Amino acid sequence: MTESTSPASPRSKDQKSVRAAVLGFPRIGARRELKFATEAFWRGESDAEALDETAAQLRTRHWLAQRQRGIDVIPSNDFSFYDQMLDMIALVGAIPQRFGWQPGTPVDHSTYFACARGTDTAPAMEMTKWFDTNYHYIVPEFDDATHFSLARTTPLDAWQEARTLDITTRPVLVGPLTFLLLGKSKSDGLDPLSLLPQLLKVYADLLNAMKKAGVEWVQIDEPVLVTDLPADAADAFEQAYAALATVAPKIMLTTYFGSLGDNQELATSLPVAGLHLDCLRGDDDVKAVASSLSPDQTLSLGLVDGRNIWRTNLSPTLARAKELACHHEGDIEIASSCSLLHTPVDVSLESKLDLELKSWLAFATQKLDEISTLARGLWDGEETVAATLRASTEAATTRANSKHTYNPLVRGRIASLDASATDRKSPFADRQKAQADLGLPPLPTTTIGSFPQTVEVRKARVANKRGELSDADYRAFLERETEATIRKQEELDIDVLVHGEFERTDMVEYFGEQLDGFAFTSNGWVQSYGSRCVRPPVIFGDVSRPGPMTVDWTKYAQSLTDRPVKGMLTGPVTILQWSFVRDDQSREDTCRQIGLAIRDEVADLEKAGIRIIQIDEPALREGLPLRKADQAAYLEWAVNCFRLSGSPVEDATQIHTHMCYSEFNDIMDAIAAFDADVISIETSRSDMELLGAFGDFHYPNDIGPGIWDIHAPRVPDADEIERLISKAANVIDPKQLWINPDCGLKTRGWPEVETSLTNMVTAAKAARHKLSA
Ligand code: GLN
Ligand code: ZN
Repeated sequence: MTESTSPASPRSKDQKSVRAAVLGFPRIGARRELKFATEAFWRGESDAEALDETAAQLRTRHWLAQRQRGIDVIPSNDFSFYDQMLDMIALVGAIPQRFGWQPGTPVDHSTYFACARGTDTAPAMEMTKWFDTNYHYIVPEFDDATHFSLARTTPLDAWQEARTLDITTRPVLVGPLTFLLLGKSKSDGLDPLSLLPQLLKVYADLLNAMKKAGVEWVQIDEPVLVTDLPADAADAFEQAYAALATVAPKIMLTTYFGSLGDNQELATSLPVAGLHLDCLRGDDDVKAVASSLSPDQTLSLGLVDGRNIWRTNLSPTLARAKELACHHEGDIEIASSCSLLHTPVDVSLESKLDLELKSWLAFATQKLDEISTLARGLWDGEETVAATLRASTEAATTRANSKHTYNPLVRGRIASLDASATDRKSPFADRQKAQADLGLPPLPTTTIGSFPQTVEVRKARVANKRGELSDADYRAFLERETEATIRKQEELDIDVLVHGEFERTDMVEYFGEQLDGFAFTSNGWVQSYGSRCVRPPVIFGDVSRPGPMTVDWTKYAQSLTDRPVKGMLTGPVTILQWSFVRDDQSREDTCRQIGLAIRDEVADLEKAGIRIIQIDEPALREGLPLRKADQAAYLEWAVNCFRLSGSPVEDATQIHTHMCYSEFNDIMDAIAAFDADVISIETSRSDMELLGAFGDFHYPNDIGPGIWDIHAPRVPDADEIERLISKAANVIDPKQLWINPDCGLKTRGWPEVETSLTNMVTAAKAARHKLSA
């Protein structure tokens, strides 16, 4: 056993070895170099050579950093110019026909980026969230014409590139089952799994070439193994890995983001040389899996969190590693729980962060040290890493005891909440009567909140941040924008107005900056999709609201008009979901604290005379656990946190919510349980088809199905909108219907917004007329 290996004793070949492994490193660069290089290439300001050069520098830098920090198993082909699924699409020649690519020719940058971003003649491929992360992948498309062929050799090239630095890497590939199961069939009756045999040929060709070139190990990612698999997937897995095992280098099969659960037997029976488990999100079956592997297999323990930014408490983690290692006789790897793609690059660049907080954080670079420390501690003995363990314990202790994470007032208030805190005073029908004096017409018109964030708005904000525009002048500027927007909405004859959200950069950041318990990084960027990165706030302590956050702006806007102005808030679930969340209490507890802070804001808005308040929850659905069995519990607390935030008001105050996505079928009960007086949702892209879920369910409250897809620059005409309204009226009682766009208008330009809203109001009036006739 490794524990008995004293530091001085030579490691004999027959002992099991312990290696430090990384499943993937962020590719964007500590200063988002890849983003800037890619965008310059897109704008035509640089050529492919310059882009390739930046990419090569980043790969080299990241490989060297990993080697220098003691990582034994360094990944390659984890780099991507856009997305690892799109890389697989290109690798296996699954480029949809509309992009005009000729099989047998190389997939160049322009074809590759066309798939992701679309061209004048070919719409972009669909993009969706990678499991329960905020990373988006390009969805493979399969149809009757799909024919796979090996169109690239990138994984082998990357391995060879690292060899020139004298670094032996483990190339990473998305596994064939994850690739097929995450793809979409575009031909009727085509089951993606039926494409497995021809896909396997391409994998086999590639893997065989890699083996011949001297690649010893490959990492094959099959995160679908932590989800509820379709019935025929087990056979497909067996078939796939039986075929690949004979031709491929040694395969480290990785699973992450959850536990194997009912796929445990399947995963451990596959003929692979190693199996990786996420020991953080899937801690329940690690021991059983460890015991069931054979001694000639490598067990990879994902013990350092690839999804969060907190420093690992190394001593207990090492103890856990030791314990788990006892259950497996073969080799061990200590690894990141998943790819480090989901964490920012380097916390040492954070010069403005509070020093105490900074000492609790580990970004990707710091996680490399943690992984190698754990591996060394396990292999060479704890005493060889004693100083590092002590420092880690110290950080954990200060964090646990810090006054800054603990607010007795918040704790006390949460503890004293009773069940009625999440209920409105009366049922919807009574509230509706109390709200009648709002005097709204049938089919009331409104928007979702933001109006165009023009160049001028952004310029003024930057100038104010830089100190070039005084606070007073900036405020005056925002007041002018807000007033102009109110006037514009009056002119357009919209019924429920908004103030436009010009003072906000981002719907989470704006609130986080005003709440206690939140911190912001300067460089904590994480790839969201393609070149787009986000910088999630860090929730480190108990959340509370020192003072009103939106009341001034809402009151100001309301003072300008007799029509109702909606107060605009971001909901607790969305704030939680789009932040890095503290890991020392449950997400539910953190969410409830945010809910309480939003509740205070709702109460203050009401006090200030605001009659309609919207609490946006666009991220509700993405927080849904991967396994069906876990979803009800999540939805229950998520719904409760929303209700907590929206229920301190009188019946006469109207609460709205907004969710900008459309797959509601499986969460309809939760949506109804929100009990918002009005919900606005996305439906126009599917021509109102998706509204069916609300109709079938007999959704009881009011609903505004988006009648205009704001994600595209297209302006809908009044006839088209009227047609959508009457389609909606076939499914939902017109008395319940509101008329609004799909989402906020902040990314659109004023001219298209004006025309579209004019058409929207014209259509609503025509529909009202028909309705009354
Ligand atoms: N109120 C927000 C806006 O209009 C909602 C944004 C969203 O749903 N993502 O911008
Ligand atoms: Zn939206």
